[in-house]
Amino acid sequence: MKLKNYQMYINGEWIDSVSGKYFPSYNPATGEAWCYVAKGTAEDVDRAVKAAHDAFLSPEWSNMTYTERGKLVRKLGELISDRVDELAKFETMDNGKLIREMRGQLTYLPEFFYYYAGLADKIHGETLPIDKKDMFVFSSREPLGVVAAITPWNSPLYLTTLKLAPSLVAGNTIVIKPSEYTSASLLELVKLVEEAGFPPGVVNVVTGFGLPVGDTLTSHPLVSRIAFTGGTESARHVVRNSAENFAKVSLELGGKSPNIVFEDADPDNAAMGIIAGIFGASGQSCVAGSRAFLHVDIYDQVMDRLVDRVSKIKIGDPLLDETEMGPVATKAQLERVEQYVTLGHEEGGKLIYGGKKPEQIGNGWYYEPTIFEHTDNKARITQEEIFGPVLSVIPFKDEQEVIELANSTNYGLAAGIWVKDVARAHRVAKAIRAGIVWVNTYRSVSPVAPIGGSKLSGYGRESGYEAIYEYTQTKTVWINTSSEPIPDPFIMR
Ligand code: NDP
Repeated sequence: MKLKNYQMYINGEWIDSVSGKYFPSYNPATGEAWCYVAKGTAEDVDRAVKAAHDAFLSPEWSNMTYTERGKLVRKLGELISDRVDELAKFETMDNGKLIREMRGQLTYLPEFFYYYAGLADKIHGETLPIDKKDMFVFSSREPLGVVAAITPWNSPLYLTTLKLAPSLVAGNTIVIKPSEYTSASLLELVKLVEEAGFPPGVVNVVTGFGLPVGDTLTSHPLVSRIAFTGGTESARHVVRNSAENFAKVSLELGGKSPNIVFEDADPDNAAMGIIAGIFGASGQSCVAGSRAFLHVDIYDQVMDRLVDRVSKIKIGDPLLDETEMGPVATKAQLERVEQYVTLGHEEGGKLIYGGKKPEQIGNGWYYEPTIFEHTDNKARITQEEIFGPVLSVIPFKDEQEVIELANSTNYGLAAGIWVKDVARAHRVAKAIRAGIVWVNTYRSVSPVAPIGGSKLSGYGRESGYEAIYEYTQTKTVWINTSSEPIPDPFIMR
């Protein structure tokens, strides 16, 4: 059977790369290619950025009212909601995540478009109570220009939406580079951008590899804003590239997030929260709760429940509704998980569950849910992001100790706290250095709530109203209301 070729989308046209080349995209559940994607070049990027820049300046887009832009963004959300099953299947084919999870994400995705569509005509400045006579001063929020959006493979459409929806309502144009592993679902979504009626050049997609596509895009002189989600090393390249043009950057990177269980927590819920944190999405989530800190008084209760439920996890074909854990997304990712498990043994961790590829499951890139027990929070396996289904469990005795342990990491993205004592919940939530803290829940998201981290987890925020600030800048306008002659021009007024 001939596999489908996906072209790129530039200036409202479906086109081949100037290289004329395509590269395969693999299905992680079988390890086999299922489609081909255009292999973009620096020249393709240049063409896309120029198209986005022209569209940004075009009267059709720049003079469009905020209300009209909001309507287009809302329409896009509605079109997505009509295609949830289809788009979910493309995501699962590409990244191997559960069809249930992708369907759930995509069913909710339109809410992000509706939220930002609703904000479109509320992006306003202020009249400033200026401390000068005869001056009327106001501010407005203006779009930045061309946005370069770079996304990873784990939740392609969700992570693109966080950049796309606020960019568009604010009046920017955008060039998106999806991960080389997961381009298909975005290209399918872009068909809906066309159907919604966005002018050509407002949304563009250049597919291909970090080098040269991501690299050229983030150093392009016509790019004003870079929204990057991915790994720390690529982020460093992106930030260096941004220095060429002083593009404003946001970085959503990885984490080594703590999931802390206090002695008064509900042990059943805590065990479920730990599983959601690290075995949901096979641990391939930026907010993966990869370090569980259990108070010694509740340690055995939580561990018994955790191991019991983990031993029953149904691993298998992510396209089946009953499956609970699918494969990891790439062969390289599987090898990375295997290397960290070897390291876990070498570093003296005690293997409690898993630690190998599951038997009798075909050729896909599967790995068992794996639990290590540690006493050392400094081990590499407890400090470095694995991005796979490997949990480190560490006991603790008191609140101050666990705050220090939780904060002893280079990352600062998310944290979970399982506790009944409300005062303690507030104290610990305040003390944890992370951009998101969940109390008695984990991995909850909403368009209303900002997402982002500190330290090596990056900077800037996506989602929520804050994203509007991230995709606009302030203009201050001074109007002299006096008809008097201008006095001494050599003195600042
Ligand atoms: P990478 O950093 O390898 O890739 C992310 C994106 O950056 C891809 O599109 C990639 O292209 C591109 N890229 C790679 N090199 C460059 C470069 N020099 N210049 C510009 N772009 C480049 O991460 P992964 O795709 O492997 O994603 C997994 C990582 O992402 C995890 O380690 C996790 O930490 C992080 N992550 C963070 C999330 C968050 O919200 N905070 C969410 C999801 C993931 P290509 O793939 O084609 O090489």
